[in-house]
Amino acid sequence: MAIDKAQREQILESVDRLVRDKIAPRAAEIDARDEFPRDLYKAAAELGLFGLWIPEEYGGIGPDMVTPLLISERIARVSASFSLSFSNCGDACTPIVIGGSEALKRRFLPGIAAGEIIPAFCLSEPGGGSDAAAITTRAVRDGDHYVINGRKMWITNGSIAGVYTIFAKTDPDAGHKGVSAFVVPRDTPGLVIGRDETLIGLHGSPTTELTFENLRVPVANRLGEEGEAFKIAMETLDEARLNCSAMALGAATSAVEQSIAYAKERVQFGKPIIEHQGLQFLVAEMATGLTAARALWKESIRKLERGRTREASVHAGMAKLIATDVAMRVTTDAVQVFGANGLSRNYPVERLMRDVKAFQIFDGTNQIQKMVIGRYCQKNGLPLEEGIDL
Ligand SMILES: Cc1cc2nc3c(=O)[nH]c(=O)nc-3n(C[C@H](O)[C@H](O)[C@H](O)COP(=O)(O)OP(=O)(O)OC[C@H]3O[C@@H](n4cnc5c(N)ncnc54)[C@H](O)[C@@H]3O)c2cc1C
Repeated sequence: MAIDKAQREQILESVDRLVRDKIAPRAAEIDARDEFPRDLYKAAAELGLFGLWIPEEYGGIGPDMVTPLLISERIARVSASFSLSFSNCGDACTPIVIGGSEALKRRFLPGIAAGEIIPAFCLSEPGGGSDAAAITTRAVRDGDHYVINGRKMWITNGSIAGVYTIFAKTDPDAGHKGVSAFVVPRDTPGLVIGRDETLIGLHGSPTTELTFENLRVPVANRLGEEGEAFKIAMETLDEARLNCSAMALGAATSAVEQSIAYAKERVQFGKPIIEHQGLQFLVAEMATGLTAARALWKESIRKLERGRTREASVHAGMAKLIATDVAMRVTTDAVQVFGANGLSRNYPVERLMRDVKAFQIFDGTNQIQKMVIGRYCQKNGLPLEEGIDL
């Protein structure tokens, strides 16, 4: 059962306290040390936040689509990196919620909801990024098991996860219909955890390479039927795109707010720089872009809440495209507003700019969003509803 409005308000109030008292004071340090903040993950778990994606019968308080998006947005205002640490749990456990057998759900979901088991979503590979159907990791049936061999790249929380949802080809000739997914605990022999990447931003959120060397996984750990996993991955990605938008909008909001405050304080040519029209126009464009992106994001959430239609999925892609492009632009503009101070680690806007770049790349790059939106328009015209939604 979805949580009601009053419960949502209560949760968001507790998140605001967590953000103010625990995450904000640590954000710069997490970035500088590039270390996953286990204490914050535990603090989020104590509020029950990882249970939001998980039904009550498996230890959660959900599933609820909207509340996690609002939480991601709030956390990203102070730490985009920890916002990803929080929300990646949703991306990674949703395939189990959608496609897991009763036994798999009972085995893994309560630990994930309690924050004791961190899940990871393992789709991308060195040769299969945007073209996810081109993955080459292979799962070959051997009696009651599959034997998995291959390599994954860019896996969020790959080095710290307790359970991995691994996408692999069970039929290499069947394109996306040959993709199956498996739930694999960390201690399974043959699961080799590689190094974490050093990225320009999102420090503190590990992004890891994984190798599978004759990894033996029971057939019972497969999600859904053989060949059904691509659908599970795409369904998961609709919400992930709205979440990516949430993180981008949170960071962008912070960038615009900080820019306004700084421009009111900083004096050049005898007056606050916000009183110079050239800079005031820049702030106006930042605020307008952000407001437009936020409106589309909310509309896309409403559409997906009403039903998982093709149109709702295209809208989620549109929201992701606009929100992340706006976030990249306004965080870069924020650095401009701050002048040389904007480049300094003594001010948080350079971190915002470094962090949001990844949002244009993961959960489907913005070129891939355009490809999907364009193909939809070619076939169906504009993805608008009849009448005006007011
Ligand atoms: C911080 C971070 C965390 C991530 N976490 C995860 C995770 O947890 N799990 C996971 O599975 N993956 C994860 N990823 C991987 C991410 O999903 C991929 O990086 C993404 O799908 C793009 O793939 P790629 O990097 O291989 O780029 P490529 O696919 O090689 O694309 C390179 C460029 O070519 C463009 N391009 C490609 N094809 C087309 C086309 N047909 N038309 C026009 N342009 C095109 C792209 O838009 C891009 O600009 C993560 C990535 C990052 C950066």
